[in-house]
Amino acid sequence: MLQYKAPVMDMKFLIEDVFKYYKHYEKYPEFAEATPDLVDAILQECAKFCENELLPLNQSGDKEGCKFDNGVVTTPTGFKAAYNKYVEGGWQSLSHPVEHGGQGLPPSLGMAKQEMMGTANWSWAMYPGLSHGAMNTIQSHGTEAQKELYLTRLTEGTWTGTMCLTEPQCGTDLGQVKTKAIPNADGTYDIMGTKIFISAGEHDLTENIIHIVLARLPGAPEGTRGISLFIVPKVQVDQQGNLGESNKVTCGAIEDKMGIKASSTAVLNFDNAKGVLIGPENKGLECMFTFMNTARVGTALQGVCASELAYQNSLLYAKDRLSMRALTGKKFPDKVADPIIVHPDVRKMLMTQKAISEGGRAMVYYTAKIVDEIEMAKTEEARKEADDRLGFITPILKAFLTELGCESASQGMQVFGGHGYIKEWGMEQIVRDVRIATLYEGTTGIQALDLLGRKILLTRGKALNKFSKEVLLFCKDKSMISKNPHKRQMNKFIWALSKNVANWQQYTMRLALRAKKDRDIVGSASVDYLMYSGYIMMGYFWAQMAQTAYEKLATDLENRDFYRAKIKTAEFYFERLLPRTKSLAKTMMADPKTLMQLDEDLLSFL
Ligand SMILES: Cc1cc2nc3c(=O)[nH]c(=O)nc-3n(C[C@H](O)[C@H](O)[C@H](O)COP(=O)(O)OP(=O)(O)OC[C@H]3O[C@@H](n4cnc5c(N)ncnc54)[C@H](O)[C@@H]3O)c2cc1C
Repeated sequence: MLQYKAPVMDMKFLIEDVFKYYKHYEKYPEFAEATPDLVDAILQECAKFCENELLPLNQSGDKEGCKFDNGVVTTPTGFKAAYNKYVEGGWQSLSHPVEHGGQGLPPSLGMAKQEMMGTANWSWAMYPGLSHGAMNTIQSHGTEAQKELYLTRLTEGTWTGTMCLTEPQCGTDLGQVKTKAIPNADGTYDIMGTKIFISAGEHDLTENIIHIVLARLPGAPEGTRGISLFIVPKVQVDQQGNLGESNKVTCGAIEDKMGIKASSTAVLNFDNAKGVLIGPENKGLECMFTFMNTARVGTALQGVCASELAYQNSLLYAKDRLSMRALTGKKFPDKVADPIIVHPDVRKMLMTQKAISEGGRAMVYYTAKIVDEIEMAKTEEARKEADDRLGFITPILKAFLTELGCESASQGMQVFGGHGYIKEWGMEQIVRDVRIATLYEGTTGIQALDLLGRKILLTRGKALNKFSKEVLLFCKDKSMISKNPHKRQMNKFIWALSKNVANWQQYTMRLALRAKKDRDIVGSASVDYLMYSGYIMMGYFWAQMAQTAYEKLATDLENRDFYRAKIKTAEFYFERLLPRTKSLAKTMMADPKTLMQLDEDLLSFL
């Protein structure tokens, strides 16, 4: 049986001490209510809800899965009751604007809520999670009437939303979208086409589902320039928001998947379904991109959630499972053997999981502050500045943290030995559930191309330079010349970090020069480059956490063990995970020809 206790202490360490959220909230009068007392109460209550209501449905939901019968989808036992409690508790509205019934609390706080829900039960969390995407789209691009009509119910959670992009012939290359939108005289559109893989596309949790659909108008340009965005409700609504007739959108099937089995993944058939245009004609993809980064940070979180859940369970198991003796002599002579936690290789797996979970959480919580800045920006200039920063970080977070989430889940299974492969313990489920995270919301390969191609080369490394400056400023401030003892203790981290940042810039420059002569280098280097960047970025956050822990050791005597553990985990990260950059640097700089020189026909002799 899977165990989970929300890591509230670690969350508060980041919120209060490392990233100083309260100082950041003070900048925005809208966040006046986000006081330490309220935030603390929310974290504690959310932890209870996730531990008591969502966790118990995690394995049962996987076993039972969603059921499909003639267009009707039934979620696993207990899902609807938990969803009703979630809505009654006001959880969906936590960080949405007050004017549509939200509580107006910061999005960064919403991220902490998402983390707990996603760790306790990722499949369940996808139903309310997808709604956030739909709400953001309507909030950013809807008319006042559309906001009025849809946002209140989505915000309270009595309706959910979806994002309908993918079609059978295309997921990455949305320029191939074929779904049609035919205008009607009354200003509505008839939507025709098939969407596949639609998360929360059909379910029994709410009375209505609001689909946000990409489709083409008659005569629209080919490719991505001819795609528009439509709101298509499952059940039609009148101007007052009353439910009317069913719309002509039906669920043809749900996918039988490797993991997240309790999350319904629907094939949706639109057969002259009534929809309304949202945003300008032919600008559908641009509209979606305005909040794509935020959605991707949400997916990055799945890596952290899986890592945390796997870590908590493998740690418990490693303390309990007995096998042979420690190499340095018996540690528990009264037992028939020592627990496996005494073995360095098991420790390596546990420490790797710990470093990924806590380092990943730090990356996400840092980024969540930027999301706040975007939502609260008072000028277009301020919004763009924050969005550019987020745009650089997002592909790294999305791909790096989901790839590491898979690694951590797999290590967790390894700690269990053969029992990790058996369903009862839940470890194989975590491995299956997290695997999708590297695929949806843009595969790792696509995130890597976005990072190196668009965010670095196209902008001549502007955002990288800005981020590097921030890291180097941190390094300078903590530098060895200082007499301050905390600062001297930081030297080991600072040396490695500044050297890595300097290398990062140099390698980027070399790649840019080579890309001028050989475009294939971008594609051949990109994934390694992204992972390389991820390790350095995580190193920056581990250094920050170590620095804060050193400071707190002197002032917070009650929690000294927590801070000592932080510093030791930072040491582990710098000694054993950051050096992966060396091998990645070598492979990302390798000649693309070893990938491309073998003729397609010679790839197999079958
Ligand atoms: C469980 C699940 C839930 C999903 N939920 C949703 C949802 O709610 N809404 C929605 O719209 N979609 C959803 N999707 C779809 C998902 O986003 C796509 O599957 C994903 O974006 C990849 O698209 P694809 O499957 O068409 O793969 P393809 O685009 O066919 O890619 C296949 C492979 O080729 C690589 N590749 C493709 N193009 C390039 C290129 N130019 N350069 C280098 N490599 C390339 C990819 O990285 C990948 O490895 C979901 C999918 C699943 C499985």
